[in-house]
Amino acid sequence: MTMCLLCQQLLKPRILFSDIFLLKKEEGGICSVCRKKFNLISDIHCPNCFKEGEKTICSDCRYWQEKGLDVSHESLYSYNDQMADYISRYKFIGDYLLRIIFADKLKQYFKNKVGYCPVPIPISNQRMKERGFNQVTELLSAAGVRFTALLQKEDTKKQSEKTRKERLALQQPFSVIDKMAIPDKIILIDDVYTTGATIQLAKKVLMKNGAKTVISFSLAR
Ligand SMILES: [Zn+2]
Ligand SMILES: [Zn+2]
Repeated sequence: MTMCLLCQQLLKPRILFSDIFLLKKEEGGICSVCRKKFNLISDIHCPNCFKEGEKTICSDCRYWQEKGLDVSHESLYSYNDQMADYISRYKFIGDYLLRIIFADKLKQYFKNKVGYCPVPIPISNQRMKERGFNQVTELLSAAGVRFTALLQKEDTKKQSEKTRKERLALQQPFSVIDKMAIPDKIILIDDVYTTGATIQLAKKVLMKNGAKTVISFSLAR
């Protein structure tokens, strides 16, 4: 019997032998009740960053605009309680099985992004040691989306270990991995987009190293 990866209810058993053989799981491993609690971003969203419910450019995007920086971001789901719970279990608790839940949706999305090289936001070596996997690359792998890991992330000090000056300065934690060629068109990918600061920092490094167009995507906004 297969259980929903989120609520542990039994999923409707499937009787096709081929499904067992191919280890297919109905609805990406979760039940329809849990699936419905995820909220796909509606047509009413910030035109620049997909923030749900915004009819014009949102305050986060205006902040970047004032700094002379563009935002060209798309997202699939709004960051509601269900998504927060998912992210916490998948990323912070490290439940690796949860990487498959959005595989179909991600696959569909990236089919329409032909011409852009998908580049995941990296995690630091320290995080990698703690978590055992990069939550972004695993989402993509589960969806069969090919990507190029161009960036690396330095281990940054914990907020509490930083001096006041360090806390205030927006540090650049990203750099291009040695000798990697930078494609002209890149789509940066993260799990969650909050203020856009992470994407802006990664974009800055890529543009400095020769990228011409950098757009971005996150599972949730
Ligand atoms: Zn469920
Ligand atoms: Zn916005």
